[in-house]
Amino acid sequence: MKFAGLVKQSLVDYPGEVTAVLFTRGCNIRCPFCQNTHLLLRSPRVSEPVITLEEAVEFLKERLGFLDAVTVTGGEPTLYEELPDALAAFKELGYLVKLDTNGTNPAMLQQLITSGILDYVAMDIKAPLDYRKYLRACGKLTTEEFFNVRSSIRLLMETNIEVEFRTTVVPLLHPPEDIEEIARYIQGAPLYSLQQFNPSVTLDTDYGAVVPYTRQEMQALADRCAPFVQNVRVVNI
Ligand code: SF4
Repeated sequence: MKFAGLVKQSLVDYPGEVTAVLFTRGCNIRCPFCQNTHLLLRSPRVSEPVITLEEAVEFLKERLGFLDAVTVTGGEPTLYEELPDALAAFKELGYLVKLDTNGTNPAMLQQLITSGILDYVAMDIKAPLDYRKYLRACGKLTTEEFFNVRSSIRLLMETNIEVEFRTTVVPLLHPPEDIEEIARYIQGAPLYSLQQFNPSVTLDTDYGAVVPYTRQEMQALADRCAPFVQNVRVVNI
């Protein structure tokens, strides 16, 4: 398995832990507000450096005692069949393992949870669980992928590992009642993060002109979600 990037130390990607962050390349959907536009295509440009699994493991061995966790994000990491082996290698070193996912691969998610490799999953919920709304927020999405997202939510609602659901809140896509609808859908979830949309880099350049909700408006959205989930927080990305 190869990675497209490494952040050697982050204090914000794994709540309460110091984590390294590894990025995978390629994504099966195309959210118009995506900020990781350089990671969307699976094949790197010829000149682009890649980090092999062996190099990542070597780095993590050197950092034992300084880092608590490894976070794998993308792109969409579950596109890689080799992901479970890579995460198992990190776990074997003694690290906590976190996966960020768009939820379109519940089979792999189930496999990772059952085998005890994962400690934390952060899953995006792009919109209320209505196909047309979800498709608009994802740019492209098959009905199978849509049903997979629903399955992943169900799976994560029933697991014992740490789970975070999160939505990048874009005023053009998410009127306040839609954010509340998502919170109602994941009623009882341990953590729902509302991520502030950042228009400085967007896949669809039209989204660069979208004005984000203010800090106060984001807090009002969080207050609206609070009755339905155990914890809700506003996050800047
Ligand atoms: S924001 Fe959307 S398009 Fe971008 S990497 Fe995440 S799931 Fe893929």
